[in-house]
Amino acid sequence: MARSYNFSAGPAALPLEVLQEAHEEFFDFAGTGMSIMEISHRSGVFIDIARQAELDLRALLQVPDRYKVLFLQGGASLQFSQVPMNLLRGKASADYLHTGLWSGKAIEAARRYCTVRIAASSESTGFDRIPAPAEWRLDPGAAYLHYTENETVHGVQFATAPEAQVPLVCDACSSLLSKPIDVSRHGLIYAAAQKNMGPAGVTVVVVDEALLDGAMSVTPDVLNYAHAARADSMFNTPATFSWYLTGLTLRWIRRNGGINRIHQANQAKAWLLYRAIDASGGFYANAVRPEFRSINNVPFFLADSTLEPLFLRQAESAGLMGLKGHTHTGGIRASLYNAVDLPAAAALADFMTHFQRAHG
Ligand code: PMP
Repeated sequence: MARSYNFSAGPAALPLEVLQEAHEEFFDFAGTGMSIMEISHRSGVFIDIARQAELDLRALLQVPDRYKVLFLQGGASLQFSQVPMNLLRGKASADYLHTGLWSGKAIEAARRYCTVRIAASSESTGFDRIPAPAEWRLDPGAAYLHYTENETVHGVQFATAPEAQVPLVCDACSSLLSKPIDVSRHGLIYAAAQKNMGPAGVTVVVVDEALLDGAMSVTPDVLNYAHAARADSMFNTPATFSWYLTGLTLRWIRRNGGINRIHQANQAKAWLLYRAIDASGGFYANAVRPEFRSINNVPFFLADSTLEPLFLRQAESAGLMGLKGHTHTGGIRASLYNAVDLPAAAALADFMTHFQRAHG
């Protein structure tokens, strides 16, 4: 079997072991004579899977008991609306840090529900950094402060979580489970599974119980965190197959040494690519200030942009897939999520060096 090196931004590479496990039990899950997709979410078989996935996620992230862990649907994009619907709790405004394309989308969505205060923005410098905390204009009366831990398109990442006097809300869509995060400093963290922890279809929400029960009255029941929490994320039929595959991926992360080990590996992969970019003498360029460079997504440009289609074609011929940059920025982007291994990053770094030799 030939597996490609997959640098897609999401849906993204899954661990081969996870795919093999799912393959082995695809037609007959645990002697039931049924596929896991054909089994009721209310059955003991599925409830065990759901419970184990939650236990594994709690163990990996060291989630304190006072937090609920929810497995929802609608992607991280739905959280852009679900967060204000549930967390405004009668307040008129929320603070947002604008650090790239995805925080921009969260801001636009929230504007339908409240006054959005941009506490800081790096738009004027092309989203090349996280603005210095001394420049933030935080409102102590805000319902919450929202930040995007890793900007998937611009490749900008927070070094540490912001300090906040109000509940801190984190879009960790492209970084949850790829590096340590101090859950106890947050009111709510959300991430879709399709990058670092599974396939598309499941969105994980980790939320402080103290923030539940304040949803706006217009909030549909299916979008009310409190209902989801009371129903163990089974208020309605959940995405059972995605949840199951996410569970297998969480187990795989635990088997492979947990968050600290995976973080070290992720740093090593990113370092290989940034070194190839920085050593290229300007042939390749990444616009982000080094201290804010993402370990999850490495966007870069060729100084001669007319070479980019050739770069992508030759990369694909070499089995290096999913490297086309986001339509918003163009260029190249390598996503280095948990299931992308070091040999994949090394193969891409080698390819970059060879391509430069041939065309530089
Ligand atoms: N936030 C970030 C940081 C993302 O990278 C993405 C997806 N690329 C989203 C939100 C939206 O996720 P979804 O497609 O699951 O709605």
